[in-house]
Amino acid sequence: MSQIEQLLKYQQEDEKLIRLEQEAASSEERKAYVQAKNFMSKAPEKLDQIDAKAAELERMAARLSAAYQELEEALKDFDSLDEMVKEEGANVAFYKKSALSLQDKIKSLKGEISSLTAAVKAVDEEYKSLKKKVIAMQKQYKESHAVYTAYKEQKKKEMAVVEEELKKLAKDIDPQVFSKYQTKRSERIFPIMCEVKADRCSKCGIELSLAGKEAISSGGVVECENCHRFLYKK
Ligand SMILES: [Zn+2]
Repeated sequence: MSQIEQLLKYQQEDEKLIRLEQEAASSEERKAYVQAKNFMSKAPEKLDQIDAKAAELERMAARLSAAYQELEEALKDFDSLDEMVKEEGANVAFYKKSALSLQDKIKSLKGEISSLTAAVKAVDEEYKSLKKKVIAMQKQYKESHAVYTAYKEQKKKEMAVVEEELKKLAKDIDPQVFSKYQTKRSERIFPIMCEVKADRCSKCGIELSLAGKEAISSGGVVECENCHRFLYKK
């Protein structure tokens, strides 16, 4: 068998291995496992974000409480307003003005308190929903890990059969050529052996150089200058 035929035979078998590898990589079993794993690894970060939001709300609540106390103090001035006006001839216009300003402050404080309440509720809901998800994902992680491990074991067995066959086929291939083949495969070039049609690479369409054409027509294998595949002529 010629070197080209050996390589083609090897590649044909190798394609089975690639298919198995792709199946394993895109399997539902792996997807469920990776999804749960990713979620679990990001959960602490999400929890930190909620913590930071809660701390910010706590600071806001402290600020509003201080503002409320200040207003309470200011309102005390009005308790004895009647007497002050009667007995001391206090300036009514001045008190009227400060009463209006207090009213404004109370109104704005009320608004801030209601938005704070809404924000606290939102953070609480966010926390509850995260907790629920974490519990569900913990379960999914455990289950999918077991399923995926079993699936991988099965795939490994199937791959081992193909790999055994590949090992046998590799014995008949020139070691230097074979090592080049393996390098290309690791670079995810596949198929590696491509037919030349009308002096062009059938995969990328680039025309062969003069030297390439000569080598090909004498039954050799050349590398495509563009996609780096092995080119041969039938
Ligand atoms: Zn090419």
